[in-house]
Amino acid sequence: MDFALTTDQERFRRDLRTWLETTSLEVFGRVGLDPAGTSLLDVDDRQWERLLEYHRRLHRAGYVALHWPKEWGGAGAGPVEQAIYQDEVLRLGLPIYGANQLAIDRIGPTLILMGSDEQRRRYLSPMLSGDEIWCQGYSEPNAGSDLASLTTRAVLEGDHFVVNGQKVWTSIANRAHYQVLLVRTDPAAPKHKGISYLLVDMRTPGIPMRPLRQITGDAGFSEVFYDNVRVPRENLVGELNGGWQVSIATLMYERVSGGSRHPVAQMIDELIALSTRAEFSGIPAAQHPYVRQKLAQFKIEAECLRLSRYRTITRQLRGAIPGPESSFGKLFATELNLRAAMFADELLGLDGNLAPDSPFVREDGRWLRRTLGARGYTVAAGTSEIQRNIIAERVLGLPKG
Ligand SMILES: Cc1cc2nc3c(=O)[nH]c(=O)nc-3n(C[C@H](O)[C@H](O)[C@H](O)COP(=O)(O)OP(=O)(O)OC[C@H]3O[C@@H](n4cnc5c(N)ncnc54)[C@H](O)[C@@H]3O)c2cc1C
Repeated sequence: MDFALTTDQERFRRDLRTWLETTSLEVFGRVGLDPAGTSLLDVDDRQWERLLEYHRRLHRAGYVALHWPKEWGGAGAGPVEQAIYQDEVLRLGLPIYGANQLAIDRIGPTLILMGSDEQRRRYLSPMLSGDEIWCQGYSEPNAGSDLASLTTRAVLEGDHFVVNGQKVWTSIANRAHYQVLLVRTDPAAPKHKGISYLLVDMRTPGIPMRPLRQITGDAGFSEVFYDNVRVPRENLVGELNGGWQVSIATLMYERVSGGSRHPVAQMIDELIALSTRAEFSGIPAAQHPYVRQKLAQFKIEAECLRLSRYRTITRQLRGAIPGPESSFGKLFATELNLRAAMFADELLGLDGNLAPDSPFVREDGRWLRRTLGARGYTVAAGTSEIQRNIIAERVLGLPKG
């Protein structure tokens, strides 16, 4: 593989880098976003407003959806430009898809692939501009890993579905205008065959929600309830009772994103810098053989992740929708992120557990927040165990466990 860039690609990188550095400084200034990446779940109202502003500028500059086809408002960029974009954005710890991550990385691509022309015309453009923020209503109290057991019910009455039930862990439900919602439309059919995929306006009467506070102290996701919610029939994506296939496409796109948007490499570089300031077993950490081995291994794995990201981008650009192999990236990135965050805890010892407002805090308390948040990424979009099952059964062809 030849990684040398052409003159045009070098120019693209230079222009992009300048734009990102200038814009992120202008927009975020000192509002306290984590330089190793901020999850949309962790931002307060003030940071959210800044993120929306950043999103609008990203959109105006034409960077918000490099991977979408031009026909639908994306940049239709080649694999190299996309790889450059991801590298540069991750280097600065900025959110790859601005404030509308779920819309840009998975819901929009699902509509492009499986929606009707009318749905594409209605919804894609405000996704790009950030005027309509989206969330994803899949998980329920008794349907997470076994998603097809979901029981939220939708009954077709004339030209509307009437929805009743409950979702849980819905990220950014409190900020979203729209939602993709998985509902059961045929309770008598085998469980994968009685599900439909709806587009729901969150402002419809009958959708109360309750925020759920995470271990980090943030309340970025919610329980969402549906009480006789009326959804127009034209908001059905794909066939009635054919929603499982649509939901799998969304999940595959979500897993690709989960493997590519974590600024793990950036965090590992920070860990290396931390080792030059910390002590370990009574000597400077950077001189300790155990620490050196660990850091070298993390660095190698981060590089493997970067190269496998390039492979995924190439595959997408060949028009293939991501398949079960998207589980590799998601599993590897989130587990590496978790191990690296835990290692920072080992380096900092008990000091690593001090909250940011403690007078004795080290490294602004950022590692505590990252360690507490890291486990969640190994659960979101399908747990690590589920990813391993998918790889075993659908990629390696092993018998079901
Ligand atoms: C940060 C975050 C954001 C999220 N955002 C959203 C969102 O926006 N929308 C949404 O719908 N959901 C969201 N979720 C929910 C997420 O999709 C579920 O938590 C996840 O699918 C797991 O489901 P569960 O929590 O019900 O756990 P369970 O499915 O009950 O699993 C419990 C444990 O059992 C293990 N397990 C289960 N089945 C198997 C099996 N067959 N083989 C081996 N082990 C198994 C699991 O790995 C896990 O360790 C989010 C979760 C997190 C953490």
